[in-house]
Amino acid sequence: MHEKTTRLPDEIVTASGGKIVLLVADGLGGLPDPKTGLTELETAKTPNLDALAKKGVSGLHVPIAPGITPGSGPAHMALFGYDPVEYLIGRGVLEALGIDFDLRQGDVAARINFATVDGDGRITDRRAGRISTEKCAELSAKLDTIELPGVELFFRPVKEHRAVLVLRGDGLEGGLNDTDPQTTGVRPLEVRADQAGKERTAELLNSFVSQADGILEGEPKANAITLRGIAMREAIPTFEERYNLRAAAIAAYPMYRGVAGLVGMDVLPVPGTLEEMATLLREHYEEYDFFFMHFKYTDSTGENGDFAGKVAATEDFDGIVPGIADIAEDVLLVTGDHSTPSLLASHSWHPVPVLLKSRNSRRDLCESFGETSCLGGALGVIRGVDLMPLMLAHAGRLAKFGA
Ligand code: ZN
Repeated sequence: MHEKTTRLPDEIVTASGGKIVLLVADGLGGLPDPKTGLTELETAKTPNLDALAKKGVSGLHVPIAPGITPGSGPAHMALFGYDPVEYLIGRGVLEALGIDFDLRQGDVAARINFATVDGDGRITDRRAGRISTEKCAELSAKLDTIELPGVELFFRPVKEHRAVLVLRGDGLEGGLNDTDPQTTGVRPLEVRADQAGKERTAELLNSFVSQADGILEGEPKANAITLRGIAMREAIPTFEERYNLRAAAIAAYPMYRGVAGLVGMDVLPVPGTLEEMATLLREHYEEYDFFFMHFKYTDSTGENGDFAGKVAATEDFDGIVPGIADIAEDVLLVTGDHSTPSLLASHSWHPVPVLLKSRNSRRDLCESFGETSCLGGALGVIRGVDLMPLMLAHAGRLAKFGA
């Protein structure tokens, strides 16, 4: 478990101050189209973001460290001011959060793959021929009935061959090995207790697997399971504890709602439309000090390698900016969690444009919001984890350090 650590900025946060809105366009950063030399963000018509960039200060942030391509989980932890390496959220935990599962502190979660094994128990297909999501749900309901001594067990379908297993009870441990051997022609591995204290969790998981194998025997494709990313939801100091901020999240996708919940944010109802994001912000503006707002489509279009689609998504994002900027008068920070260049069709390590608008911000020479123009911004190129202190400072929430 993580102890509450005392360090900057935590030890100088004040009891009150202005309000902060962190608006995240997932995967915002891109790479230039070789034909035009312009990225998706630079190609998109973004008059509202450009106007904000003129008024505020801009720059770029490195999500984790130079050259490191992050997942969205650690990239968001960095935006929230948590060292993403120290506070690494396990893959099992993220998978459970991704289906809106009510994961509690001390729960242990694992990603599950249904797999196909031959008569000798050797894996012939690590993804069970990508069974349908309906089949996955049917088999998951059966495995959910398995009972283990002294713990509650939840088995939930995710998609196709993927599912989640959660154990709830005292004395469980995370950080156990994967049972997926990452190859075919061999048997799934056992869960091993490679450290003292992990024996019981390993025993429970191995018992689960052998019972599951019994239930799945005779299935034509999904006749076995493998476990990956076995992880515990650990206690993390909350926004309230670290920053004296009552925080809320406005996000449609479960994983982001889940990560926000991990750091103690209240998760507001799912916005039905993009416009509803600003409506929710307005409705709850008095109740909270900090708002995390998440826009997904700049990432999903980038992941699909769809340059034009990402340009269109960026323009949609620009469309919601005025409604939010009107409300977020104290501090508004707009950025992405990482880059997702359409040219790579994946996340990447490239720095991400940032703009910060506040009554206390300086002006700079950045006249539009883009990867290249932000290089001329006053924020320079900084680490993602350093954005939170900047937001706090601009909101008047950090006292002087030392005399
Ligand atoms: Zn992301």
